[in-house]
Amino acid sequence: MNSAGIKQKAAELGFDACGIAPAEAHAELAFFERWLAQGYAGEMAYLARSADRRADVRRVMPSARAVIVTATCYNTDRPYSIECADPERAHVSRYAWGDDYHEVVARRLDALLAWMHASSAEPFQACRYVDTGPVQERVYARRGGIGWIGRNSCVINPTLGSWLFLGEIICSLPLEVDQPALDRCGTCTLCIEACPTRAIVAPGVVDATRCVSYLTIEQRGEIPEALIPGVGGRVYGCDVCQEVCPWNLAAPVSGDRAWQPRRVWDRRTIDELSCLSDADLREGLRGSPMARATRRGIRRNVAVARKNAESRRRDVAARGQTPHG
Ligand code: SF4
Ligand code: SF4
Repeated sequence: MNSAGIKQKAAELGFDACGIAPAEAHAELAFFERWLAQGYAGEMAYLARSADRRADVRRVMPSARAVIVTATCYNTDRPYSIECADPERAHVSRYAWGDDYHEVVARRLDALLAWMHASSAEPFQACRYVDTGPVQERVYARRGGIGWIGRNSCVINPTLGSWLFLGEIICSLPLEVDQPALDRCGTCTLCIEACPTRAIVAPGVVDATRCVSYLTIEQRGEIPEALIPGVGGRVYGCDVCQEVCPWNLAAPVSGDRAWQPRRVWDRRTIDELSCLSDADLREGLRGSPMARATRRGIRRNVAVARKNAESRRRDVAARGQTPHG
């Protein structure tokens, strides 16, 4: 078994890209500590608790020699939210429309890992993570050639764009590694300019406490009044900085059933979501990544979106325009 064989097996299992990075203390891993020190993590205390391990995967698994990073495209054929002129429309972040990626991608990584154990001439140690582990997966994705980290802080693959679920297997095998991906943002600053809450405070630096994704998913309690207008009709997450990215203009669409939109969240109005019963909401969150926000959080977000829609209606009436104008 070698790196080429692992990548071939990853493709057979449905991964859209696979790269291998050395398990080393890469210079850019140090950024995370500085980001935390700025207070940009907000209430996500678990990030500070695991900061030591996040500084180097060898603190997670001392025998680590390589990090196998996979990318799975989750884009679907629905238009981007910025293309929707209807102020009554509720928006859910694209990654959350279907099944919980943590579980789906973990099952596929388990299959890859089982194949590796069966194919390897020597025993080895390994562990796998999907998003929630104490691993700076974007750094290893870049080092493994999957894509560069854009000014919006997302990993961008030149062919696949940035609608990607990352997953990784840390292992003790001395695998052949890939070249790091090159930065291709160039002179573009579209994501920084388009962010509705000015959360991208410097290229590649997102102040989570201002980011709509954090506000609608992680933050408990009320959303700060000053940031409410920026939330707009977003009831779970935000895709704006990815939607405006030129590398997502022609992003491929996945036919994977796991990522197709659930009826309950698909092209719904804010009023429709306001009327969801507890039973409908519970059903819509079952096996969905949106469960993280809790039913209460989703209700709060819908109320905020409603308030924003009402205020937009008032503005439009005051100007004597149609709501779409
Ligand atoms: S997800 Fe939305 S709010 Fe957060 S940085 Fe991107 S554009 Fe800004
Ligand atoms: S919008 Fe432009 S600056 Fe932002 S991540 Fe995409 S290419 Fe980079």
